[in-house]
Amino acid sequence: MGAGTRSPSPSLGVVGGGTMGQGITLVGLLAGMRVVLVEPVDAMRDRARDFLHRYLEKKGQGDRLRDLLLVADLESLRGVRVAIEAVPEDLDLKQAIFRQLDMLCPAPAVLASNTSTLSVGAIGSATGSPDRVAGMHFFNPAPVLPLVEIIRAEATSEATVQALLELASRMSKTAIVARDTPGFVVNRVARPFYAEALRLLAEGVAPAAVIDQIVERGGGFRLGPFRLIDLIGVDVNFAATRSMYEQTYGEPRYRPHWIQEQMVRQGRLGRKAGRGFYEYPSGASVVEPAAELAVGPAVGRVALGPGTWAPGLAGLCQRAGYAVDSPPMVDTTAAFVAAGRDEGALELLADFDRQLPTKVPLFCQAADLGLSEIAPRLSHPERLVGFDGLFMAAGVVVTLVAGPGLDADVRGRAESVVRSLGREPTWIGESPGLVLPRIVSMLANEAAFAAGEGVAAAETIDLAMKLGTNYPHGPLEWGEAIGWRRVLGVLEHLGRETGEERYRAAPWLRRRARLEGLPEP
Ligand code: NAD
Repeated sequence: MGAGTRSPSPSLGVVGGGTMGQGITLVGLLAGMRVVLVEPVDAMRDRARDFLHRYLEKKGQGDRLRDLLLVADLESLRGVRVAIEAVPEDLDLKQAIFRQLDMLCPAPAVLASNTSTLSVGAIGSATGSPDRVAGMHFFNPAPVLPLVEIIRAEATSEATVQALLELASRMSKTAIVARDTPGFVVNRVARPFYAEALRLLAEGVAPAAVIDQIVERGGGFRLGPFRLIDLIGVDVNFAATRSMYEQTYGEPRYRPHWIQEQMVRQGRLGRKAGRGFYEYPSGASVVEPAAELAVGPAVGRVALGPGTWAPGLAGLCQRAGYAVDSPPMVDTTAAFVAAGRDEGALELLADFDRQLPTKVPLFCQAADLGLSEIAPRLSHPERLVGFDGLFMAAGVVVTLVAGPGLDADVRGRAESVVRSLGREPTWIGESPGLVLPRIVSMLANEAAFAAGEGVAAAETIDLAMKLGTNYPHGPLEWGEAIGWRRVLGVLEHLGRETGEERYRAAPWLRRRARLEGLPEP
């Protein structure tokens, strides 16, 4: 099935006809290239042929199959301009293949690996021309996801990077260039999304379904961490985490969680196994429809303390029909305050407490300060409700935390107030950084470490995370919007309460927090 006598179109070699090799072959054919796919296992070759035929015929592009050559050995790659390797994640195997590719496809051919976790430099070192070797990391499913990471190892030449950027553009992919460091950009920056959620679960802060609800309906993520791990595969996600941990000689931010290992040992591998964090009876719909919001009536007045989030919250309260003022009055329905660690802020909170009528909830922004630190300062600690003020204006779900000794009537009133604002109250146990501030601050922190280390430029990291993982915002632009001082406050609160090194802030982030508020140069 070669190209025969037709005018030659650029040729692509793909090594390995599994999940990724099939996807990359398809992308190459759809881009009008001639593709030679090498797959030594007969059954896998048949499966690859079936998949490509079915996909292309369904798309009405069956004629593209003319340009496919499906073979068992590497010899047929002689003369291709670019070879992309997608064999299993094993350094010895990949090095052996690159040694052969080096001989079969001489310069100026470019040799790329689709590795997710291995060092591209180590793969290239097996060849006599590591300048021609780079990473070209597609995401699964390759025909659907728009991002590719081009990985530049120390020895990779500019011409090699340019050739792969041109190839990505021909394939209608958005390419970013990243340094050859563990996890590159996307797999690295995404780690806290899973890691912090697993810790919240293990700490008993909330069940998996509640954490997913808060992340999806409060933070705007398409899939919560547990639904996403089930989709990726608990074993695959665990292997990626382990690889990052091992490659960095035990960086605490990447430490795997025992929950992952236990689930793998129990065969709870996610959707593919029918059970993971959720059960998947065959044929059942996976994404439950969002519950209808029971919006309660708005009555009376709301008192607001000062803070960067206050204007957003004031707008929300006014739209719901509340009068907004400060400080509280005799007929105030609820008060919202952002307590800071400084004496002035704590004094303001105590003032609000003194002025509020009995049984009126005092909502305190609790992302960077513990309720057990605040309650002793109040005359009426039974009215203290922690809330996530950072994400209140953006999401439908609002996270609430009961202060120590919260009165049952106050609890009910607090829920009514949140419902009257068109938001769904969701209670969790007290935990530093709550759910969204903890996860988003740690995503921003990981992105800040990556930016500081020059893995990629800040805008590139944001773009990669939006395209590669479908996050609603890039982690760095999110940190900027929340305010770096606030993000630092959440991380420092987590560090103080847990004593764990994993919550140390990136120097890049600390610098931004210090410079916040200064005019741009
Ligand atoms: P896979 O196991 O589905 O496919 C690998 C294929 O390579 C198999 O069909 C196997 O028979 C074939 N193979 C083995 N030895 C070979 C050889 N010597 N020559 C040619 N073919 C050989 O694996 P996959 O999921 O497609 O992953 C391939 C690579 O892509 C890995 O490096 C992986 O880390 C990376 N990757 C995977 C994903 C993903 O979600 N699956 C995403 C991005 C990157």
